[in-house]
This record gives sequence, structure tokens and C-alpha cells, in this order.
Amino acid sequence: MGSKSDHLNFVLIPLMAPGHTIPMIDMAKLFAKRGVKVTIILTPLDATRFGSVIDRAVGSGLSIQLLQVKFPTEEAGLPPGCESADSLPSYNLIPNFSHAINLFQKPVEELLKELNPTPSCIISDKHITWTADTCEKFSIPRIVFDGMNCFTQLVINNVYISKIHESVLPEEPFIVPGLPDEIEFTKLQLPGLLNPGPSNVTGFREQVRKTESQAYGMVVNSFEEVEQRYVDEFRKVKKVWCIGPLSLWSNESLDIAQRGNNQDSIDSDQFLNWLDNKKPGSVIYACLGSLSRLSASQFIELALGLEESSHPFILVVKTLGEDSEEIEKWIVEDGFEERIKKRGLLIRGWAPQVLILSHSAVGGFLTHCGWNSTLEGICSGLPMITWPMFGEQFLNEKLLVQVLGIGVGVGARAVVHLGEEEKPEMKVTRDGITSAIQRVMDEGIEGIERRKRANELSEMAKRSVEMGGSSYLNATMLIQEIKQLGNQAKLIEHEM
Ligand code: UDP
Repeated sequence: MGSKSDHLNFVLIPLMAPGHTIPMIDMAKLFAKRGVKVTIILTPLDATRFGSVIDRAVGSGLSIQLLQVKFPTEEAGLPPGCESADSLPSYNLIPNFSHAINLFQKPVEELLKELNPTPSCIISDKHITWTADTCEKFSIPRIVFDGMNCFTQLVINNVYISKIHESVLPEEPFIVPGLPDEIEFTKLQLPGLLNPGPSNVTGFREQVRKTESQAYGMVVNSFEEVEQRYVDEFRKVKKVWCIGPLSLWSNESLDIAQRGNNQDSIDSDQFLNWLDNKKPGSVIYACLGSLSRLSASQFIELALGLEESSHPFILVVKTLGEDSEEIEKWIVEDGFEERIKKRGLLIRGWAPQVLILSHSAVGGFLTHCGWNSTLEGICSGLPMITWPMFGEQFLNEKLLVQVLGIGVGVGARAVVHLGEEEKPEMKVTRDGITSAIQRVMDEGIEGIERRKRANELSEMAKRSVEMGGSSYLNATMLIQEIKQLGNQAKLIEHEM
């Protein structure tokens, strides 16, 4: 643990979506372990999900205060309990969800007035744009977090500024200007700010970009060694502290088992026993994040691709809306579950992902390339089978496949916009999945080299968070800088 930074109080305000909240819970532990008091603001639903992890951290002597703020579901026209993006019964409710996030500002500010010690800074998800206003009112620095790496940030920045995507056809590849490597994308693979699809949230995205550019700096869940040249370039654009991989701050066994969801109903032992009976490095773990819900036809391609690969596998099944029934019927009544029962394990709902990835029987990770999952795969030293779907996932895929050389794509070509799941360019085939699995699990030179690189990156990741490692030092620098800013502010106040 670091020395006590008694007067510092870092306020963390995560976005209500597992891929954003989970790393901020880890971040709370990181700063508390370094002697900073941390106040984290959560909705009642997230307080239930993360309460026991925080209780254990507090029990071990860390100074973390959890403040619960009622999420204004009713006022925003959301059904009761819809307090996180993954709890929405339909993505049509996203505008209501955004409205609820805006209404969250007032009660949070009321609480902040009472805080002791007073807040030293707010580290907020970049999508909670009103924190810019709050920080101005409280005269404290705003640090943004959004869960992306520096490679991705730089690609988005350089495309946005050069506007190169505006002069190409949707499926015409172009090279992103100003990057250390020759990196090619098509417009259809870019995230929402650059490839909005039919949605009408361009105004909100521009607002996010504007408030992000005004922030004091940015914390990034990455480590320098994994993307050094991109970190160096991105630092020319923004003040950045890479303090990840944040998942490595949750290293107590119960925290790993309950990561993201502390429901008693999850029987981690059952999954571990199943894995114990498999050969080392033989199992494919397939999970497409906390939000992705495949259409029935794409789920069937995935399931058949895994079945045809002839490797043992774990498949995490998450369904939403109309497709749920069709998928469940196909799994049970059409005989998939029965056919694969000796070789495959289906997990319905939430899987203890980090726990599974760290089991020695797992040899490959089929991922949607959400950055948390990608980084968790890197920490576990796994080569990855990549199926990007939305957001910045195609950019993460490029980092894995081309820059780091530890991934093989299934052949996804375009971001899947809501309501456009059935367009031909959005489709992935079972053959694409099977052949990517075969290449990743290959016993020849190509497969061996890929696994070797993945193992080396895992070692680097672990070293980066140890005392003296790059992420450890970046966290020290951030804490010192916030302390200095606080001292300067006091001096100015005193002189006035
Ligand atoms: N996760 C998990 N179990 C699940 C699904 C997801 O533990 O069944 C965790 C995963 O380990 C990661 C986060 O949820 O930490 C998902 O974040 P990511 O950025 O990978 O993707 P998103 O869900 O935001 O698309």
C-alpha cells in the first residue's frame, strides 16, 4: 500500500453498464491501495452487484466509500430496476436511459456538497457529460475514463480530424493517417461518432467529444508496453495516464469469482470442475460481452461453428427480446445441447469470465473485442478468435490481429447497428468461425508463435501493475498531480 494521501478524495462516477462499471470498481481499489480516499457513486442496482466486493475491500482496510443514489427510472419512463444498460428490456429505451443519466446530476451534486474531505477530482465516464459542469461548479479537475485503449483513441482522433472517412465509399478501405503502422479500415467498421448508422444520437456524441476535450486528462485501462508507440502518439493529443490492466487489481479469489455480479446463483465450482477434466489449453471460451445479443440466426452460426471445430468449448448464452425464445428452442428442442453435452458447456446469463479465462484448460478466447474482455484475454496469455460487433470493437480487433499478432478474425465486416442485424454485410458464417478456431488452436509454428506472443504480453501486463511498473508509476504521477493542483487551489484561495 502507498503512503496515506490523507486529504485526497477521488470521486468516481461510472457509466451504468457492466463494461464501464466493472473497471471503475477495480480503479477504486487501485487508488485506495495507494492511500487515496475513494468515493464511488452507484445506483442501487450496481450497489447490489458490487457491494460485497467493496465491503471486502473496506474490510481489508481500504478507504472506499460507496454512495448510493436513486436512479430516476420512473421520472425517465423506464421500468423499475432498469438501472444499467444490460438491464434494459429493449434497446429502444436508450433515449430514456440517457435522460435518466442526465437527471442523476442533481442528487449527485447534493451529495458532493456534503463530502468530507471535499472532492479533489472527479473521475467520470466520458459519457456522463454533466460532470464537466459539476467540476466547474466545485472548481475541481475532471478526469475522464471511457474504457478504450490509446490505439483506438488515436485512430478515432486522426480519422475525426482528417475527415478521411467522408471521402470514401462505405466498404472502401482507407489508411488512417498519422499512425505508427499502416492501419486500414472501412467506414462501416468505425465506431458511432464516425459511423452513426440509422441512430440519431450524433448531437450527444459530439457533446461527449467536446466535454472530453475540455477535461483535465484521461485515465486509460491499458498498459504502456502493449501499445507503447500509440501511447506516445496519443500523449501528443491529450494528457493520459495508462493505469491498467485494471482487472489485475481484483486479485482476491472471491472478487474474481464474483466479478461484475455477486449473485449466489452463479456456481463457479461447477464450471471449474468441468474445466478440471479437460486437457490444458484445449478449451475455447466464447463470450460476446455483457451487452451483445445475437440474432437467432447468428447465434446458430456461432454454436455450429464451435460444434464443427471439434474442440471442447464453453459458450455463454445471452439473449434479448423476440430472439430469446427461438434460440432457447433451437438449443433444447432441436438437439444442440444434447449433441454437444460431452464436449460443450453452456452458461446462461452471467459467466465468471476472468475466473474461467485464468483456468489452464482454456486455450483460446472467442471474443467480441470489448476492450475489457480483450485485456482480460491478454492478462491470461490467450490467443483470441475475434468477432467484433459494435462500438470501437473493430479497432480492438485490428490491434489484436495486426499490431499484436495474437488474434484471428472470424470475418466480421461491419458494425452491427441496432435493427440492421439481418443485413448481409453484418453476417458471420460458421465456416469463418471454425476456420479461425482451427488457426488459433493450431499446433504448428503459426499457432505456437501466436501463443508465445500472448504469453509474453501477459507477463508484461502483470509487471506493469507491480511496484515500479509503468502503470504503477503512472498512478503515482496522477495522484501527485492532483495533490499539487489541490495545493495550488488552496494557495490561490488563501491569497484572495
Ligand atoms: N463479463 C463477465 N461475464 C459475462 C459477460 C461479461 O464477467 O457473462 C465481464 C467481462 O469480464 C468484462 C465485462 O463484463 O469485464 C464486459 O466488458 P467488455 O468491454 O468486454 O464488453 P461490453 O460488455 O462492454 O461490450
